[in-house]
Amino acid sequence: MKTALLVPVYNEQEVLPLFWEATQSVLKELPDEKFEYIFVNDGSTDGSLPLLKSWARQNPAVKIISLSRNFGKEAALTAGLQEAVQADAVIILDADLQDPPSLIPLFLQKHKEGCEIVYAARQNRQQDSFVKRLTARCFYKFYNSISTRPLPEDAGDCRLLSRRAVQAVLSLPERERFMKGLFNWVGFRTASVPFTRPARKAGRTKWNYWRLWNFALGGLTASSTVPLRLWTYFGFVVSAFAFLYAVWITFQKIVYGNPVSGYASLMVTILFFSGVQLISLGVIGEYLGRVFMEVKQRPLYLIDEKINCDEPF
Ligand code: UDP
Ligand code: MG
Repeated sequence: MKTALLVPVYNEQEVLPLFWEATQSVLKELPDEKFEYIFVNDGSTDGSLPLLKSWARQNPAVKIISLSRNFGKEAALTAGLQEAVQADAVIILDADLQDPPSLIPLFLQKHKEGCEIVYAARQNRQQDSFVKRLTARCFYKFYNSISTRPLPEDAGDCRLLSRRAVQAVLSLPERERFMKGLFNWVGFRTASVPFTRPARKAGRTKWNYWRLWNFALGGLTASSTVPLRLWTYFGFVVSAFAFLYAVWITFQKIVYGNPVSGYASLMVTILFFSGVQLISLGVIGEYLGRVFMEVKQRPLYLIDEKINCDEPF
C-alpha cells in the first residue's frame, strides 16, 4: 500500500528536523509499507524551504510543493491532496509534532479494517489555554446546533483519508475550505484513534485569536445558512410583539385617552431595533461576501515550484 504523508509547512525551520527524525524512525518500523512525504511549503519566509530541498535532493520520496505565498493551512492542505491522488491513503500531520507520528501505524491498522477516514481524537485540551478551550467549546456547540452534520469536538485535521475520501473532498469545488467541515461532510466509514495532544515541540503557533475568529466565522458560514434564516424568525416574533403593543397603545388611547408619553421607551426601542437591523444586515453581508469570493473563481493557491513531484511512488 502506498501512503502519502501530507505536511503543511509555514515557517517551521526550528521543528522540521525533529519532525523528520521522529517520522523516519516510525516509518522504519513499517518496512512493508511504501511512504512518501508531500511537504507543502505555504510561503515560508524562514529557512524551511532550503531545509526541505536538502532532504528532497537525497530522497526522491520527499516531494515539495512550494506555494507562491502564504495561502493558509486550508489551501495548503488542498494543494497537497491534489498532489496525492496517486496514493492509496493520505495521512495529514502538522509539522510541529503536535500530531505524533506514532499514530501512523494505528491509522493504517484501522484503514486495513475498512475505514475510509481515521481521525486522531484528542482526549483532552489541557495543552490549550482556558480562553481557547472556552471559545472552542462555544464554537462547536453553536456549529453543531446549526449544521446538519455535527462536527466531532475532539477532531483536528490530523487524519488518514483513503483515496476515495481524498477524491470526494477534492470534488467539493468551494473556495471557502473549512477542511474539518469538508472531511466530515463526505461521510464514509469513519473511525477515530484516541491520543493526547502534546505541546508544540519548537517554533511558534501561527494562530492568534483574530485569525481563529475569522476561521470560525468562515467555517460557520460555509457549513450552514441557519444564521441567515434566524432573522426571519426573529422578524416574525418581533412583528407579533409589535402588533400586540400596537393594540395595547390604541386601547389605552381610546379608553383612558392617555397623552403621548415615554421618550425613554421610544429611544430604547429605536436604538434596539437599529442595532438588530445592523446585525442582521451584517450577517447578510457576511454571506454576500462569501458568495462574492466564490463567484470570482480565483484559484485557491498558486504553485511557485514543485520538487520530485514527477517521481513515481
Ligand atoms: N500552517 C500552514 N499555513 C499557515 C499556518 C499554519 O501551513 O498559514 C501549518 C503549520 O506550519 C503547521 C500546521 O499548519 O504545520 C499547524 O499550525 P500551528 O501549529 O501553528 O497551529 P496550532 O497547532 O497552533 O493550531
Ligand atoms: Mg500546532
